[in-house]
Formats: sequence, structure tokens, C-alpha cells
Amino acid sequence: MTIEFRKIPKEAFEIDVQEGEISLKAWVLKKTPSLLLCQGNIVGTLQHHCDRCGADLVIPLDEEVEVWISDGVMPASEEGLLNLVEFFDERADFNAILHSELEAIKSDYFYCQTCQN
Ligand SMILES: [Zn+2]
Repeated sequence: MTIEFRKIPKEAFEIDVQEGEISLKAWVLKKTPSLLLCQGNIVGTLQHHCDRCGADLVIPLDEEVEVWISDGVMPASEEGLLNLVEFFDERADFNAILHSELEAIKSDYFYCQTCQN
């Protein structure tokens, strides 16, 4: 799901994108013409593996997310925002945002019950 920045409405609106069995449901708020705030939850089940023994794991996800979305390079005055995604083709891509959030979650370590003990 991509939306051109210039077509983003003034009023907050809801998005719902999916990747596999995982969905991002969030509200998007236009802070400035080139800066959006996306707040919501990533919910679903992540197929992953134990980082010690490699056993398959099904990880239930219910993660709050807050992502700032910038049209091009973030202006210097807004530096320091924690979780920022910049797009350079005048469109915000919410599937790409979900994908990068999932990659960040997967970069954590997960262990099966056997390896946790
Ligand atoms: Zn294991």
C-alpha cells in the first residue's frame, strides 16, 4: 500500500497492511506536509526459528509501533526522532514499513522452550 505524500489527507486515517500472517493496523497523522506519524500495532504470528538449535518457532506478535515517515531527507529541525523511515519517491510505502519493522523484530534472539531452560 503506497500513498503519495501530496494526497495524504489532513485528517488522521487508518491503514491495514499485511505480510504473510502478520498485519500492521495503524493510524496515520500528517504532522507537516512532508512528515507523517504512524501509530499502531503489529499483530499476528511470526514463523521463525530458535536461535540456538534451529527448531521451528511460532511467535505470537502484538507489538506497539510508532514510526515517523518523511518525504525525502528529514529536515535538520526534526532530527532526533527515534524511529524514522525516509522515502525518496514522493510516496509512503506502508508495506515497506511493516517489512522493516518485522526485520527489526526478527533481529532479536528467540529460543525454543528446550533452549530457554
Ligand atoms: Zn532451541
